[in-house]
Amino acid sequence: MNAYLELQGIRKRFGNTHVLNHVDLQIREGELVTLLGPSGCGKSTLLRCIAGLTEIDEGKILLEQKDIVNLAPRNREIGMVFQSYALFPNLTVVENIQYGMKMRGASKEERHKRSEELLGLIDLEDKRDAYPQHLSGGQQQRVALARSLAVQPKVLLLDEPLSALDAKIRKNLRTEIREIQKTFNMTTIFVTHDQEEALILSDRVCLMNKGSIVQQGTPEELYTTPRTEFVARFMGSYN
Ligand code: ADP
Ligand code: MG
Repeated sequence: MNAYLELQGIRKRFGNTHVLNHVDLQIREGELVTLLGPSGCGKSTLLRCIAGLTEIDEGKILLEQKDIVNLAPRNREIGMVFQSYALFPNLTVVENIQYGMKMRGASKEERHKRSEELLGLIDLEDKRDAYPQHLSGGQQQRVALARSLAVQPKVLLLDEPLSALDAKIRKNLRTEIREIQKTFNMTTIFVTHDQEEALILSDRVCLMNKGSIVQQGTPEELYTTPRTEFVARFMGSYN
């Protein structure tokens, strides 16, 4: 595989707990990979390690063949969206979207052009001057997504971005996320504990358990040829 993002032998411990045990993963440019697995298996930790928010104990993180392990988070060109929206409450929608661009010294014209494009994509042009507290959960997650995309990251990490939303909004938004991801050909890791979400969204699913990727493949492969009892049980629990 021609890897765009590659993890090699990632290990992470908290105290005596081994949270990530030699994780290897290769992702192609433009691919959407889901990390699926039960609560506590290490999904968020893995994303945080990739983003540079958590230091790894061992391993390499290669982005376009360059090791980014020693780069500060803001220099890694990786965007991240969390489960809870974490927008700046004192900034409007458009200011939230432009925030990262401003920090990076983008001109006013550039910021305006980019934020208008993104507001159109997330369909929130009429909310540009609203504050986060006046938006629904789904709208806030759209803004969080736009804010991450605004700085044109090379990789987008989404940590259960839909799990705080109710079922109908969740389904609509996951379709939108997939469309936006394809529009930008954005290399994306989508974390979820929801089998249905993983099956519907992804090019490839990596199933994690206890700090390791236990099986990866297309959604169909995981369903039809589980290699272990854990995989069979986990995939089979969704009907
Ligand atoms: P997931 O996202 O799959 O639910 P996490 O990556 O959040 O799992 O957590 C994996 C394990 O690491 C859990 O046992 C959790 O308690 C532990 N853990 C996560 N972050 C920390 C931390 N900062 N300090 C100590 N333990 C942590
Ligand atoms: Mg998590």
